[in-house]
Amino acid sequence: MDNVKQQVLKMIENSKNEIITRVQEIVRYPSVTGEEKDAQAYVSRMLKELSFYVDIWEPTMDEMEINPDFLAARDHFDGSPNVVGVLKGKGGGKSILLNGHVDVVPEGDNDWDDSPWSGKLEDGKIYGRGASDMKGGIIANIMAVKAIIASGIKLKGDVIIESVIGEETGGGGTLSAISRGYKANGAIVSEPTDLQVCPVSMGAMWFRITVKGLAAHAGTSYLGINAISKASKIIQKLDEFEARRVKLKKHELYQHMAVPFAVNIGTIKGGVFPTSVPDEVIIEGRMGVSPDEEIREARKDLEDAVYEVSEKDNWLKEHMPKIEWYGFCISSGGVDRDHAIVKAINDNYKYVKGSEPVVVGTPWGTDAGALNRYGNTPTVIFGPGPGETAHKANEYVEVEKLMEATKVIACTILDWCGYEQ
Ligand SMILES: [Zn+2]
Repeated sequence: MDNVKQQVLKMIENSKNEIITRVQEIVRYPSVTGEEKDAQAYVSRMLKELSFYVDIWEPTMDEMEINPDFLAARDHFDGSPNVVGVLKGKGGGKSILLNGHVDVVPEGDNDWDDSPWSGKLEDGKIYGRGASDMKGGIIANIMAVKAIIASGIKLKGDVIIESVIGEETGGGGTLSAISRGYKANGAIVSEPTDLQVCPVSMGAMWFRITVKGLAAHAGTSYLGINAISKASKIIQKLDEFEARRVKLKKHELYQHMAVPFAVNIGTIKGGVFPTSVPDEVIIEGRMGVSPDEEIREARKDLEDAVYEVSEKDNWLKEHMPKIEWYGFCISSGGVDRDHAIVKAINDNYKYVKGSEPVVVGTPWGTDAGALNRYGNTPTVIFGPGPGETAHKANEYVEVEKLMEATKVIACTILDWCGYEQ
């Protein structure tokens, strides 16, 4: 076994230039939502070169029905194809699914030192939007399998490589792939965990609360009801609600976070003119969900908190704030930290790095939630990128971690799928 792993690790070491070039090339496709097509064509060419059977299709909204809580910031997937490659094993081994999302968030402000799509290599880092989140992970997945194939090793179990769209807007690509039947005995989502092993990921969803008041002239404000004053009661209640969740929603893999499942108020809009009593305030925010928590329960808890404070107010109890869940909802979920897929990654992390991995939950939602909940596929999250550079200017992935992730993933595939030489 060790000989075989050593051979594959050497192959990966020898492929370092190609790994770097591949990440640079894929980063140069600006695959923001709706523009994923060219990056997906690139992935599909890579998979075809490795003799994968390649399936390319555009997801449809009815495929989302497997997740009853699905919400997305987009209403169609036209022009945004998923790419899935299947490499059939010899038989008699367990199948593995390697998942990554090709969509990236917009480049954002102008704080970039270079073009966000440069793929620049400097001081051992590859820069660009998506380098960390998570094109580095996609390339690590593919290059891990490439090294196994190039070493002349025949796997027993099937390998499924997914390059999905729509993760940043609610997880539609992975749900579509599950609906189409892509499942496995185990999966790795190579999101930017900075080589931490994450058996669970939190869920996240957006809410909107509309608080009504009554307009009046500021000079006779007692004839109106100030919606901003009323909204401040709701905001205070949401802060208390979050503090209560910190105490109630304890999770062993989130002890490192001060507020693991935050209730963040992201925007507030209200009022039109200093001399008018405002008659409407709209509060929008994002709520984190524990891996052990159902989306519906979490929603109800927030709704109950808002209704509870409203019941104590003469105006609000007659004009209950309207609560909407909209735009984004990604399932929480995970596997037990002793699950075989987690153990396989842990063991190979130790084999490659010579030290114990850090095992924690992810601070954001990932497609692992859907794979675990709706795909019946035990999934662990492990990837090269540093999470703290994701969604920011000067996003990067370190070459060294890219290499290490590729090695750990390759050795995990060997153990999981079994092989013949
Ligand atoms: Zn991501």
